[in-house]
Amino acid sequence: MQSGKSEEGKPPPTFGTSFDVAPYIVLWELTRACALNCKHCRASAIRQRDSAELSFEECKRVMDQLKDFGKPIIVFTGGDPVWRPDLFKLVYEANQRGFITAITPSATPRTTRSVIRELKESGIARLAVSLDGPDKESHDSFRRVNGSFQWTSDIINWASEFELPLQINSTIWKGNLQLFEKLAQRAEEFGAVLWSAFFLVPTGRAVLDMQISDVQAEDVLLRMAELCVNAKYDVKATAAPHFRRVLLQHLLSDNDTREINSLRPSLRVGALRSYQSVNDGKGIMFISHTGDVYPSGFLPIGCGNVKNESPVEIYRHNPLFKSLRNPDLLRGKCGICRFKKVCGGSRARAYAETGDHLAEDSLCAYWEQASA
Ligand code: SF4
Repeated sequence: MQSGKSEEGKPPPTFGTSFDVAPYIVLWELTRACALNCKHCRASAIRQRDSAELSFEECKRVMDQLKDFGKPIIVFTGGDPVWRPDLFKLVYEANQRGFITAITPSATPRTTRSVIRELKESGIARLAVSLDGPDKESHDSFRRVNGSFQWTSDIINWASEFELPLQINSTIWKGNLQLFEKLAQRAEEFGAVLWSAFFLVPTGRAVLDMQISDVQAEDVLLRMAELCVNAKYDVKATAAPHFRRVLLQHLLSDNDTREINSLRPSLRVGALRSYQSVNDGKGIMFISHTGDVYPSGFLPIGCGNVKNESPVEIYRHNPLFKSLRNPDLLRGKCGICRFKKVCGGSRARAYAETGDHLAEDSLCAYWEQASA
């Protein structure tokens, strides 16, 4: 297995750039097609490609436009991006333009050893796989395909063979909450450089009943804070920006509201991680397989299409994007919270649950102090 290692030491690609000007990560859904049928799928993926997918030439034009951002990380995602026959050429073109590229292939027989090798040769910098249970039973039942755990293990072994840094993404939901420690252990055994815990957002195929409670989330975030200090890999929370609040509260004094970079270098946070608070539309943008632009993959409010508008213009000037970067507009307990600038709550969850993208994040247990 690949040994866990941090990429600390390399400068982050957009360090110092305001999120009003450029995102840290562009998530690019190359296709919606996927052979899996996961319970939580954001994309509600289907088993065929859409004839309206962006063409290779359109993708290249979008990459040329994205250069105006500088060098954000581009994460090629799906569906399953491996369904794109021009995938290696797209990775190559992105690298030619100076972007750091990562990919999230689905664990199916389609992602073979030779696919991993070609991704490496095309210049991919990191490979991310999903692991939602620490063993075959728990993982396969979530992915709803027998064999998924084995295919995931195969991809991880090939990533190690070709020296591709590995990120493991795990969905945290009611069904695997009791497996948290085992999942954390598995991430270490698999040699991950980063473990990203995604706090399920009830959108796509995921429903509210799958989501853990705010108290349970607080407990998980505390355990993740301990991992930040002790684990061999970096730790990241997705759709739970209050992880920053938890870190600040429990690793510094309760009155400290400094930005998270003040915690470095005491915390294990790698160079491909942002120094600023990342949230939907604030440091992130999402481009769909047909070119629609969203603040993130979990906040399905369309803000334009790259076929007739520059993604840079949309990110910088679209009113919805701008509102997401203004903490003074937040409502509910997030609006009066002293951590709103370093956290701000998951805007995707607020929208999924209330229809208001500026409402409070129900998964945060920090309400007593917020209202005080
Ligand atoms: S109340 Fe909102 S802004 Fe404050 S810590 Fe919780 S989620 Fe973040």
